[in-house]
Amino acid sequence: MAKNLATVSIDEDKCKACELCIPVCPPQVLRLADHFNKRGYRPVELAGECTGCEMCYLVCPDYVIEVHRGPKAELTAAEAGA
Ligand code: SF4
Ligand code: SF4
Repeated sequence: MAKNLATVSIDEDKCKACELCIPVCPPQVLRLADHFNKRGYRPVELAGECTGCEMCYLVCPDYVIEVHRGPKAELTAAEAGA
């Protein structure tokens, strides 16, 4: 059976670390990174298996997160060396 592939891309320098996206993620796979973006915030990063539910995309006020599902997600994960 094909795996339900999904991932997110995060435009780190647009993130203001408001954390709205973290509690709404059902599998709780978003967290703040240890590093800082060029605006001085710790950007959100993916730290687990994304289901592609789009909750983070819907809640982010600054359109930082894009969700990719299916073949595009596979491609993105491969590009990221995952
Ligand atoms: S798409 Fe859903 S599962 Fe994936 S990171 Fe966003 S809220 Fe979490
Ligand atoms: S909701 Fe958007 S701006 Fe706020 S922490 Fe998440 S990705 Fe960053």
